[in-house]
Amino acid sequence: MPRNINSDRIILVIVIVIILLIVPGIHPLSPIKIFGQIPFLPNQPSISHSFSSTDNQSNLKASNYPSKAPLSGIDGTVNTTPTNGRGGSNNNNSNNISSNDKVVILSFDDNRKGDFTYAKPILDKYGFKATFFIICNETTNKGSMNWQDIAAMQRDGMDIQSHTMNHRHLNHLSATALQYEIGGSKQCIDSHGYNVTSFAYPYNEGSNNATVVNEVAKYYDMGRSGNEPLMFLDCTGFKKHPQTDCRTYTPDGTLNFATKYTARSYCEDVQEIKDSFNNVAIYSDFVHVVNSQNNYNQGAEKINAVPLITFHNVGLETNNPYTTNVDLFDQLMKYLHDNGFKVLTFKQLGYDTNTNTFYLKDV
Ligand SMILES: [Zn+2]
Repeated sequence: MPRNINSDRIILVIVIVIILLIVPGIHPLSPIKIFGQIPFLPNQPSISHSFSSTDNQSNLKASNYPSKAPLSGIDGTVNTTPTNGRGGSNNNNSNNISSNDKVVILSFDDNRKGDFTYAKPILDKYGFKATFFIICNETTNKGSMNWQDIAAMQRDGMDIQSHTMNHRHLNHLSATALQYEIGGSKQCIDSHGYNVTSFAYPYNEGSNNATVVNEVAKYYDMGRSGNEPLMFLDCTGFKKHPQTDCRTYTPDGTLNFATKYTARSYCEDVQEIKDSFNNVAIYSDFVHVVNSQNNYNQGAEKINAVPLITFHNVGLETNNPYTTNVDLFDQLMKYLHDNGFKVLTFKQLGYDTNTNTFYLKDV
């Protein structure tokens, strides 16, 4: 019996329709939508971010970061191989915040608007407080936190400190200008209702200059410069800068590298530039740095090495020097939270004038 041509056509059409339905990416109803979901790529521009405390976008992206980041070298000055099994661990136990033998001090420089808009909600989500170093004459720019923002920060337990009047290069100023930038900024910020005790050097400049450090010492209890992955609280661990303690001057009158006026911090933004804004590399290096303290600390009573991590702006964009992408920032904070890090402000860093060493309050 000859085949019916119309039946053949109908069967052919049905077969074509079935093929279109099952071959991925060809038809919008295809069960495998390769064009429907764009996988997270480290360097792709951030998709519009509507932040909320239940940020599913960030949670989805968490799986794209390594749970155990490789300990790639970032700086030859410290031996960062974990020795006790705590390094790099990610136990995903959000309740594990009692193991307070891992400490990070967080600070943000330059009072950027993104710190208020994007960083603070994330810090709040994880229950973290941080220090914000304020440039007193830069509170009216569009991209800056204003005094209202700064007041809201302090009301919620954030620590407000000084980062000069105008963010100038301190090594090249007259005595009067130096006094204005350093002493004047304490007076300026205090006049808005704060009690500033710490100072951060713009561009990390001036911390090896006795004239500048002496000016800082006139007005502040403590100062912060760069750029070391770990701050050794007894100041003896800096291999390129051997010291016996944190006293400001050695007996022969030489200014020490790390002192109460020049605590050494780690600039996350510099690392982001070194990592060419590759989020996976940045995450890996961050994990590496925060765990590098494990080699020097034995339990909560014997903490001697702490990363003082400095950020600047936090925003939606990527590939922008001195702006940390908000989703990446969330992941970095999530890592600290999930791995039981105790996050402190600069105000919780104390100094013992008898032993000339730093210590941690509230740990
Ligand atoms: Zn700055």
